[in-house]
Amino acid sequence: MDWQKIVIHHTASPTQIRRRGKSVPVNAAVIREWHKAKGWKDIGYNFVIMPDGHCEEGRSLQQQGAHCQAGKRNFTGIGVCLVGNFNEIEVPEAQLQGLVNKIEELMATYNLGTEDVELHRDVPGAATECPGRYFPGDVLSKRLAERFKINIKGLFPEC
Ligand SMILES: [Zn+2]
Repeated sequence: MDWQKIVIHHTASPTQIRRRGKSVPVNAAVIREWHKAKGWKDIGYNFVIMPDGHCEEGRSLQQQGAHCQAGKRNFTGIGVCLVGNFNEIEVPEAQLQGLVNKIEELMATYNLGTEDVELHRDVPGAATECPGRYFPGDVLSKRLAERFKINIKGLFPEC
């Protein structure tokens, strides 16, 4: 696979669901069940960011994803999904930071720039609010830009 983009999503779901009378977290395993119930072979996203910021593995990056048909991003974009419905709530700080950490790792691994990080709704041709109207796209861009500068300075301290 030739990964050129990182596409950010939300589950548009609660963060907890009831299972046999118990409250359980929506995580990669639960999303995998939802997607398989649609007839998909696996979870559509490559990574899932939990509300506390930790990251769970979704679909292997050895295979095309199933998260964004627009712009052929299933073939070129790594799908990173935050658990939550950001049409209703704001992104918790720990979760946003977990997302920034994961994006930075992927940028370094696949040699991508901040311009390659996209919100699902900003992919040309996508008709969706995903990752939700309260998702702070401006804050994310700013943090990535700041961290990127720090990394460059760290590499070249004399600059
Ligand atoms: Zn999406």
